[in-house]
Parts: sequence; structure tokens; C-alpha cells
Amino acid sequence: MQQIKKPKKPLIFYYGVGLLIMFVLNAVIFPRYVRNQIEEVDYGTFLTMLEEKQVSMAQMEKDYIYFVDNNEEDPSFYSTIAFNDPELVDRLRTSGCKFGKVKEKEASIFGTILSVVVQVAVFVFIGQLLSRILMKRMGGSMGNAMSFGKSSAKIYVASETGIKFTDVAGEDEAKEQLQEIVDFLHNPDKYQEIGAVMPKGALLVGPPGTGKTLLAKAVAGEAEVPFFSISGSEFVEMFVGMGAAKVRDLFKQANEKAPCIVFIDEIDTIGKKRDSGGMGGNDEREQTLNQLLTEMDGFDGSRGVVILAATNRPETLDPALLRPGRFDRRVPVELPDLAGRENILKVHAKKVKLGDDIDFNAIARAAAGTSGAELANMVNEAALRAVRGGRAYVTQADLEESIEVVIAGYQKKNQVLSDKEKLIVSYHEIGHALVAALQTDSAPVTKITIIPRTSGALGYTMQVEEREHNLMSKEELENKIATYAGGRAAEELIFGSVTTGASNDIEQMTKMARAMITRYGMSEEFGMMALETVNNQYMGGDTSIVCAAETAAAVDEKVSALLKKQYQKAVKLLQEKKQKLHELAKYLYEKETISGEEFMRILKEAPECV
Ligand code: ADP
Ligand code: MG
Ligand code: ZN
Repeated sequence: MQQIKKPKKPLIFYYGVGLLIMFVLNAVIFPRYVRNQIEEVDYGTFLTMLEEKQVSMAQMEKDYIYFVDNNEEDPSFYSTIAFNDPELVDRLRTSGCKFGKVKEKEASIFGTILSVVVQVAVFVFIGQLLSRILMKRMGGSMGNAMSFGKSSAKIYVASETGIKFTDVAGEDEAKEQLQEIVDFLHNPDKYQEIGAVMPKGALLVGPPGTGKTLLAKAVAGEAEVPFFSISGSEFVEMFVGMGAAKVRDLFKQANEKAPCIVFIDEIDTIGKKRDSGGMGGNDEREQTLNQLLTEMDGFDGSRGVVILAATNRPETLDPALLRPGRFDRRVPVELPDLAGRENILKVHAKKVKLGDDIDFNAIARAAAGTSGAELANMVNEAALRAVRGGRAYVTQADLEESIEVVIAGYQKKNQVLSDKEKLIVSYHEIGHALVAALQTDSAPVTKITIIPRTSGALGYTMQVEEREHNLMSKEELENKIATYAGGRAAEELIFGSVTTGASNDIEQMTKMARAMITRYGMSEEFGMMALETVNNQYMGGDTSIVCAAETAAAVDEKVSALLKKQYQKAVKLLQEKKQKLHELAKYLYEKETISGEEFMRILKEAPECV
């Protein structure tokens, strides 16, 4: 059960309280002890008070006369400007006033000290209160810096995470490898008898959202040993040396609690390659990494401390981390395949009420290339859509719509396309679909829509692969490029002019064509020569050129020729089926969304007689 937190009071509230306390002290309490204010009266008042015998004592200075009201219990102090009054002394005498020191009484030393001490104390107290509140709010770096190198690793006990391997769908190979580690922690004897040593560390690598963190939590849930979980960024500190101190503390705790598991999420934050020279590097980070390396060497693997780490940028890690004896087991956690996607959908669908028309396989096929996190999101979006629709359960249509929501964003209900624009988008989308369908190797389409999406897409053609592609042939790639070109080709063919609508298609097809030449060795001219390398395979996969400038120029020419050829192919295909293109585009224009079956039915129909 979750506790409802009290809303935090704004800082200004605490300042306000402080000010109020000071004000009350100064206005009510201090004046009793401290009289730093001597009331000044004019000479006339002084004379009147004197005549009425109110003045008990007076002290005369060069310019001023200080005097005391004769009320002894609570004397009041006054001053007045001394006039050159020759009768003054006589007047004082007749009124029975004594001469003595008045000014000194104006403030008792005790009172002054008391007021200073109290005010300072109040300031210190409020200051401390504020800094504690601030630290709590900032939580992270500031707070940690104050705790001087104490690691803030959270310790989970098995039952707490409650996540088991069954909660992780797909990723069977990764689960198998981690299962072995769990087994070792349960029965170390079995391994020691035969002389096998467990790897000290396992590094989970894969694209974001594939379940790396989830897998680590599942290991914690299964292993029933203490589980220290910390994120790489928590080691990054304000002060040099603090991160290293935290690493030391973490391993000290782990050694005390052995057998146990230490999990460092997003390890690339501290594990980046230490650069040679350059801008002097990042001392703090390097020290932290060095400490981590030292600690990993230092402890004895047979004691049962296993280190898990996760990253989606393995290529940036320092090689020293990856050498045997440190993270010597690398566990790939890749994007799920068709079966994996189906299983992930099923795992997450357990939490929602389902109608009886659900076909997970169809959804999994349509959601090619999505990660576990996206699939989980899809199920949730479908449930939300069901609620919006006032239904008590999720239908297949909800799930289908949610694929598009996750991939292309929500429908933009209020974006109004002009009729002309709508027509262009219709032809554009049918162009893609038609080229795809006419090329034997390309996947058929399942859905075409011209309802704008929040991602900026004005239309959308959803293609579904009949089978999972692990390898793609040169022809398949070329066909895909032609399919991308199909949108623009249809616009050109029908309207004789082109629009900005193809920008994303152009980007995708260029990337693909470039990869064919520079990485897949699919050109006659360059053959099997690597001309580009992938920088980060899991994060967008940008590449950098590794060839001479002239070669790069030649590559550009090749790419351009390849794209042109496929564009021509698309134009030719559409020209041959121009009648169908008109028919289908008109149909889509009216319906706004059509299914793959409708599309195929119209395509297969005998052409209308003109
Ligand atoms: P990352 O690999 O980026 O660490 P996470 O483990 O944080 O990804 O995954 C985020 C969420 O996505 C999980 O909490 C889970 O709901 C869902 N998810 C990802 N992969 C899977 C999977 N293989 N099986 C079930 N759920 C998954
Ligand atoms: Mg993660
Ligand atoms: Zn397009």
C-alpha cells in the first residue's frame, strides 16, 4: 500500500516563521531588558516634567541632557537637547532631582548579551532547519555529498521486489545465463566440487526497454540473497574522490553480506573509456572507475558476491571492465522476436481484462521491432482506450489502435487537412502500399490510414512481415527502398508535383541504401569493404565514415544512383497499375482508414470498365 505523502511546505514558509520569531522577540521580549532607544523630548517637555517633579536623576553633557523618569520600578529614559539655560541647575535643584550617571543605565550589559545570543541562536537553528529541508528535497548529489562517501545502494530482500523470472517474457537465453548464477548462489558446493568458479560479474547489454533492469530484479527475486541496487549516476559526485569512496563502501557492505548480488544499472555513466590525454579528462569519474576495477579484483568470487551491471552503450565501456575476471560474462538482451513479443504481451495482458476476440499473434506481428517496454505500454494504452470507450474489457481493436499510438502517436482529431491535402496523402499512402504489394518479396499491408498523428505523420501504412526476418537479401532491401519511394512516386505521377510529405521516407531509404553499400557489401564497385562503422548499435546506430574522402564521394554517388533506380522502379510499377491507384486512393480518401483485406480485395478485383 502506498502512503500518501503530506504536501511539502514551500521554503518561504520556513523563512516566514523565522522572521516572525525575530519580530516577536524584538518587539515584545527584548525591550524589557534592553533599552537601546532613549526617547527624545523637547526642552519644554523636560521643563514641564521637572516642574511636576517627575525627574529623579539627570546627567548633563555638552549637547544633551539625559534624565530618568522617577518611576523606579520601570524607569523610562529620556534625552533632550541642552539649551544654554542659566537657570537649569536651579530648576533641577528645586525639583529635587539628583545628579548622576543616567546614560549607562540605558542598556544593561546582560540584556544586550542576551539579545545577541538569542538572535544568533535563532539564526543558527533556522539555518540548520533549512539546510536539512533542502538536503532532503535535493535528495541526490547534495545530500549524498553531505553523507561523505556512504553508498546509497538500496538493499532489496528477495520478497520485496516480488519479480520472478516468469515476469520476464522472451529473453530465454539471458534468463538461462542468469539462472545459472542464481543456482550457484543456492548450491555453491555443487560447483566447488567440480572446481568451477562462477564468473564475478555479468553485464546485461541491449537496447533500452528490453528488460535489463527487470531481469536484474528478477534475479534478486529468485536468488533470495541480499541485493544491492545502485545506478551508475549515483556515483557521480560533486567532490573528487567521493564517488570512489562510495564504491569502496558499497563493496565493503557487500562483502559483509555475502552471499549477495550487487547490481549497477546504467554502468556506462561511470564505466566510460578513460581517455588518453585530451582535455585532462574527468578526474572524479576516472577515480571512481579505478576504484571499481580495484574492488572487483580484490574480492574473492567464491565467497558468493556476484556483480550484475546493465548498459545500452557497451561500446563506450572501458576495456578494462570487460576483461576476464571482471565482467567476464556478457548477457545480450536483444529486442524480442515474434514469439517473445507475443509472450511479453501475454505477461502484461494478465493485468487487464480482455475480451474474447484477442489475437496476440496478430498484434505481435504488427508490432515488429518494438521493445518490451513499448509492448507493455501498448497494453496499457489499449486498457486506457477501453476505459475512454466506456467498455469493461479490452478488445482487439483497442490493441490495434494502441500499436499505432505507441509507434506514431495519438490521433490528431482537430488537425484539419484541406481536401486537396487529404487527396495527396491518400495517393501517397496508397503509393507505398501498392508498390509493397506489387513486389513479390515485400510484406503485404495490414492497415492504411490518413488520420494525422501527433508524431507529425499525416498518413500511415502499416506493413506486417509474414515471417520474422533475421537475414535480408539484397533484393528484399531494394524492394523496401522502392516501397519507401512509392509515396513520392504516386504524388509525382498523379499531381505532377511533389510535397514535403516524403521527408521521413527519404531519410529511411537513404539510410538503408547507404548501409547496403558501406556495411553490407552489396555493391559491385566496393564489394566487401567496410566503409562505415556503427558507433552505438543499441542507441540509434549512427555510423562514422572510415574511408578516404574520395571514396566517400564515390559512395554518395552510388547511394544516389541506387535510390534513383528504386524510385524509377516504383514509378514504373505504379504506372502499370494507375487505374488501381486511382481506385484505391479514392476509396481511402472516403474511408480514411482501410484494412489490409479491403486493400487486397480491391487490388484483386477485375478493373472497372472505363
Ligand atoms: P531496460 O532494458 O531499459 O532496463 P526495463 O527493464 O526498465 O528496460 O524495462 C522497462 C519495462 O518494460 C519493464 O518494467 C517491463 O514492464 C517492460 N518489459 C521490458 N522487457 C520485458 C520483458 N522481456 N518481459 C516483460 N516485460 C518487459
Ligand atoms: Mg534500465
Ligand atoms: Zn510516406
